[in-house]
Amino acid sequence: MLFDGRSEALRGGLRLLVEGNRIKSIANSDLAPPEGAQMIDCGGRTLMPGLIDAHWHTIFAALPVAALFSADVGYIFLAASAEAEQTLMRGFTTVRDVGGPSFALKQAIDDGLVPGPRIYPSGALITTTGGHGDMRFLSDLPRSPGGPLSYLEQIGAANIADSADEVRLRVREQLLQGASQIKLVGGGGVASPRTTLDMFTFSEPEFRAGVEAAADRDTYVAVHAYPPAQIQRAIAAGAQCIEHGHLMDEATAKLMAEKDVWLSTQPFVSEEDNSPMTGQSRVNLLQVIAGTNTVYALAKEHKIKTAFGTDLLFSNTVTERQGLMLTHLTRWYDNADVLKMATSVNAELLAMSGPRNPYQGKLGIIEDDAFADLLVIDGNPIDNVDLIARPDKNFMVIMKNGKVYKNTLPA
Ligand SMILES: [Zn+2]
Repeated sequence: MLFDGRSEALRGGLRLLVEGNRIKSIANSDLAPPEGAQMIDCGGRTLMPGLIDAHWHTIFAALPVAALFSADVGYIFLAASAEAEQTLMRGFTTVRDVGGPSFALKQAIDDGLVPGPRIYPSGALITTTGGHGDMRFLSDLPRSPGGPLSYLEQIGAANIADSADEVRLRVREQLLQGASQIKLVGGGGVASPRTTLDMFTFSEPEFRAGVEAAADRDTYVAVHAYPPAQIQRAIAAGAQCIEHGHLMDEATAKLMAEKDVWLSTQPFVSEEDNSPMTGQSRVNLLQVIAGTNTVYALAKEHKIKTAFGTDLLFSNTVTERQGLMLTHLTRWYDNADVLKMATSVNAELLAMSGPRNPYQGKLGIIEDDAFADLLVIDGNPIDNVDLIARPDKNFMVIMKNGKVYKNTLPA
């Protein structure tokens, strides 16, 4: 049976031909396959497009914060590479990386040196002094203008910009390294204990400088923002995607729908969906969790273009919840819509990178000429979306870019 990423009805009796890294054709299974083709009999199971996570941090997902600050940088990248393989083995064949030095790992994956998902990199997330992602030690302060960069800036984890000119500089640096989109921070964040969610970072002109610098290379800016005032400021400056948005209100939801701005949010339903937090970070996390129902209800009511992401961080046991997080969406959407969101809908967001899109072709869909990123599920995920939560058991085949990474079908 085939779930193509878009149509709610499964189709049966088909044969899919993959040639190189693309889907060449979908034909009736009674037609003879081309000579020499390798056959995989899915035996009544479900074939579907690889999953897409629209909010992922390839380098930070699996390592504790303490290690990210203090470990040898080589170890950090090797650990991220190991986690990238696990990400692929959970059926996530593509991730949008919204902050972190993922360029080298992306290249190694694309070159076939190590297994992992396709990565749409943002490069360093760009924030202000004191904003989410400014994790400097207080002993690093004060920084004299033009002074040396802090450790996390040097490795490209976060850049701190305090003027429109600095924003332009850092945005252009990320684009030079191959960023497919830009991530700007609009306020406080869970993982930044010195921030509160309601505070502002960039002024509107600073945001606009980033949006213009990205637009000059035909791509877009995604802004990390929770409360209405931050979201509205980012949209006024031309941001085309809001990350999180959990504290949204009705007026802001209307504005997003009217301006056709994407909402890239995450279904945090309990503290288990995050690594353990203390102090202000926990206060922030609880606010996010309390807002989850509101943001999805508003997104649905106002038909906001909504992408699915997980934002799992700092723990290789929490990252195992990547597929489980998707199943949380059944609180608000029917199963077919959940699966569409993690495939064809997320792919629409990725396509906004235009000429900066590192994978020029169709993702998140099974049709002629789309990239051959495919899963074979042992069962029907439209009847039982919980199958996605146990990829080790239920994902029989994982193919990315035409290459089989897992095949446990009976021979
Ligand atoms: Zn994030």
